[in-house]
Amino acid sequence: MAATLFTNVRVIDGDGNQPFTGEVLVEGNRIKQVAKTSEEVEKIKAPEARVVDGGGQTLMPGLIEPHAHISFCNTADLETLGDLPPEEHTLETMKFAKVMLDQGFTSLFSAAAAKARLDVVIRNAIDAGDIPGPRMRAASPELTPTSGLGDVRRRHMHRETFAITCDGADEFRKTAREMVREGVDTLKMNPSGDEFIPFARAHETVMNEDEVAAVCEVGRSRGKNVAAHARSAESVKMCLRQGANVLYHCTLSDEEALDMLEAQKDRIFVAPTLGMAYITGQGEGKDYGIDYDHPVALFFRREGERGVENMKELKKRGVRVLPGGDYGFAWNPIGTNARDMEHFVELLDFTPLEAIRAATRFGGEIMQMDVGLVKEGFLADLILVDGDPAKDVAILQNAEKITAIMKDGSFYKAPSGRRAAGAVAAE
Ligand SMILES: [Zn+2]
Repeated sequence: MAATLFTNVRVIDGDGNQPFTGEVLVEGNRIKQVAKTSEEVEKIKAPEARVVDGGGQTLMPGLIEPHAHISFCNTADLETLGDLPPEEHTLETMKFAKVMLDQGFTSLFSAAAAKARLDVVIRNAIDAGDIPGPRMRAASPELTPTSGLGDVRRRHMHRETFAITCDGADEFRKTAREMVREGVDTLKMNPSGDEFIPFARAHETVMNEDEVAAVCEVGRSRGKNVAAHARSAESVKMCLRQGANVLYHCTLSDEEALDMLEAQKDRIFVAPTLGMAYITGQGEGKDYGIDYDHPVALFFRREGERGVENMKELKKRGVRVLPGGDYGFAWNPIGTNARDMEHFVELLDFTPLEAIRAATRFGGEIMQMDVGLVKEGFLADLILVDGDPAKDVAILQNAEKITAIMKDGSFYKAPSGRRAAGAVAAE
């Protein structure tokens, strides 16, 4: 069995513990041993292993994105996604899967595909080894009611959208079942609106409880995740009453919603998607018509403040709050996803190690895979970083500083012998 021994590395285990200098042995696709002390290092016997001298660099879990949209193609509007033909769209999605892996993301939990089978076929091709990309949990498109977020159709002409519109519990149930047939891991629904949709604002709850229940029932009975775009307080409560397990945004939660989230903290995941709110609020969408004074930017600043307070409160109450900032749009492009960890530090008062833990340990939990920790028995998804993310988490946004990327025990990006700080001692 092929083995790799990382020596002379500072290990960030992904569980919030202080980094330590040690050695990590990978055998096959799993982490076989983690040595923290010189005595433990002595015990590692792996004469056949390829030795990678980390030169004091940081070894940590591969990054995990809990709210991925690799088929959103960095468009500036929602209509473009429906206009893209499936063939081009598949190739684009394939390209962005590689972009994520190039940035050190070895796992993606998708928060919606832009067409029914995009995530599914890309996940399958990656798993088969046909194309490079992270491990994926594939999502359905957003299931949304007529006049909900994602319904970009027009009364006078035919237009495809990136969501699937359903009305009434029966249609939601049927569509959810179709998505199960097509192979998704996650059913995504849009029970609340969003501020940039004039007819379905963020505080509006656009699905009724029967519709939410129908999707959740299919998820429960077929063993699928149910993820919800839930900004309004009422949408959060509906999702919790009906059993959705991934709650995105939750930014407008009221006290009752916070209590309900806390009561189900061992079952659910919350990801606020701070990235989109923050950079839109700061006017970074100005090249696309959303400058600092735009009403949507103003809303995101206000909602951002409320969301920040709610997330701090949820963290205090022990709810798993994960990064993932809706990267996939023109001013929030795919590949810049690691920026969300910096937002967690800057806005939510997480320490860098807590922000990394939110991405990796909790990321592994939302993936429902043995990933996200440098731990014996876990899958060997690891990155080597030329710097100390425990001091400055922003370094993870710089792909050049990620000097090696291992997925499933094999190097996708091999450590370069030319680097002073990351020399390979032996092949
Ligand atoms: Zn999203």
